[in-house]
Amino acid sequence: MSRIIVTGGAGFLGSHLCEKLLDLGHAVLCVDNLHTGREANIRHLLDRAGFEFVRHDITLPLHPERMEADQIYNLACPASPPRYQADPIYTAETNVLGALNMLRLARSLGARILQAGTSEVYGDPAEHPQTESYRGNVSTSGIRACYDEGKRMAETLFFDFRRQHGVETKVARIFNTYGPRMDPGDGRVVSNFIVQALRGEDITVYGDGSQTRSFCYVDDLTEGLVRLMNSPPEFAGPVNLGNPAEFTVADLAGMVVALTGSRSGTIFLPLPQDDPARRRPDISLAKRVLDWAPAVGLEDGLKKTVAWFREELARGQ
Ligand code: UDP
Repeated sequence: MSRIIVTGGAGFLGSHLCEKLLDLGHAVLCVDNLHTGREANIRHLLDRAGFEFVRHDITLPLHPERMEADQIYNLACPASPPRYQADPIYTAETNVLGALNMLRLARSLGARILQAGTSEVYGDPAEHPQTESYRGNVSTSGIRACYDEGKRMAETLFFDFRRQHGVETKVARIFNTYGPRMDPGDGRVVSNFIVQALRGEDITVYGDGSQTRSFCYVDDLTEGLVRLMNSPPEFAGPVNLGNPAEFTVADLAGMVVALTGSRSGTIFLPLPQDDPARRRPDISLAKRVLDWAPAVGLEDGLKKTVAWFREELARGQ
């Protein structure tokens, strides 16, 4: 049994990871400032043995004398474009200062640390599918830069702490992930479409809907993160984690309408600035080193997600 810190542990992905780690028999310290994380995501974990929650903003140091940990998963950061663009300076601070604070903590505790990096480091990719060796096509000045460049700098810090201080670091690059506990209001495409379909509202397709994404079910993703954390010490990544099945946004809209039995129509709205035209992970490295590949297809994953959203919307009414 390990003692594990999960920053962003009250977020969508973080709460699933905390639960998985508890199920594996570990003690979990969930660190979250509840900026975009939600207490409701971890309420069912609060009385589980070995689970502890501390409300803390990782742009400020955590106090090592209060801490013991073998492993740290650094997930904290708003992840949906509308949310991370709402306060871009704070997003950059969370990515950069947060990574720095957690790396310093890992160093002082002798803990292994994993960074939740992102496919956004590839920007609007000129190579397709994206392998880890592709260096990306990212704007330094656009509205996505606070997130993309912040996450790129965080990766740099991870590799420098490994080289300079010998910290056991791991970097995942996470592609679009979906599932139960997505925030219905955070503006992501899967949550928006499901909520709109269930309410009978028009589905909001940005642009002409021909842009693509590759959607990974949350349980597959957390399995990949745990495998990466427990991979041999010399393996630092970066490693893509995502589902290589690629869909257009228009395809996704059609699937959600069909699965919900909705009568929603579609409206086309302007494409946001710097919206990547396509995105698909090459996961050969994860297959080879982690023996990992996603098991849940989009239709099955959407069914589970729709079922959760039905209940969530009923609770909110
Ligand atoms: N999108 C859309 N309608 C929405 C929300 C998003 O068409 O209501 C599009 C968005 O422009 C992007 C894709 O869906 O091309 C994925 O958006 P999301 O915000 O989920 O994540 P991203 O991959 O862009 O970070």
